[in-house]
Amino acid sequence: MLFDSHAHYDDARFEPDRDVLLASMPERGVSRILCVAANLDSADRCLELADRYPYVYAAAGVHPQDAETFDPAEGDRLRAQLAHPKCVALGEIGLDYSREQPDRDLQRAVFSYQLRLARLLDKPIVVHDRDAHGDTLSFLKDSGCRGVVHCFSGSPEMARELVALGFYLSFTGVITFSNARKTHEAVLAVPKDRLMIETDAPYLTPVPHRGKRNDSSYVRHTCEKMAELCGVSFEEMAALTYANACRCFGIPD
Ligand SMILES: [Zn+2]
Repeated sequence: MLFDSHAHYDDARFEPDRDVLLASMPERGVSRILCVAANLDSADRCLELADRYPYVYAAAGVHPQDAETFDPAEGDRLRAQLAHPKCVALGEIGLDYSREQPDRDLQRAVFSYQLRLARLLDKPIVVHDRDAHGDTLSFLKDSGCRGVVHCFSGSPEMARELVALGFYLSFTGVITFSNARKTHEAVLAVPKDRLMIETDAPYLTPVPHRGKRNDSSYVRHTCEKMAELCGVSFEEMAALTYANACRCFGIPD
């Protein structure tokens, strides 16, 4: 029983075989998947998949790289998506300073709008933080929100601060890479009841499949590595991360 807490099945790279692939997941050991939106059109597609597959859940929100697509006049559309019974989180939202665009002030405005909405609706959030650790942490500190920081790439100190704020931390196939020393230290800084695993499919394919398109069945490699780092069995880590994700998103296990 594995819970892939972050995947993008609305991505065009799944066009040729999306349905065959999703239908095969339970027999490949993956019993829950959170399909995370990048913008409001993407959220509609994630919700369609959640309607079709009992083990697929959705998150609706606007990714910092898509900040330009968001018009506050569409706030009602986002609220309607969040009201869907299988929409268990607001995401992914956050800050991404890895490129010049979109404008950082715009990213911060869209992030802060969605944090207020999450607080108002008491919805967990899925946070994207790339090269923006300081600003992300200070926004989250003031937000009063709870949820998960996905694909965590910060320091062990930042991990501890997020845990103290009540957040879960999710790790991708990056922990299977040989140069992931700092991320391994961050895993060890997180209490076992706050860890999650994810693929971020179709991106970040773990070893030994690096270079191929990622999908939820490969989350087992991340689970294996995390089990090794924490000194527990694969089964124990699978059960722990499954229970943690269910608790974070309010999904019955
Ligand atoms: Zn993502």
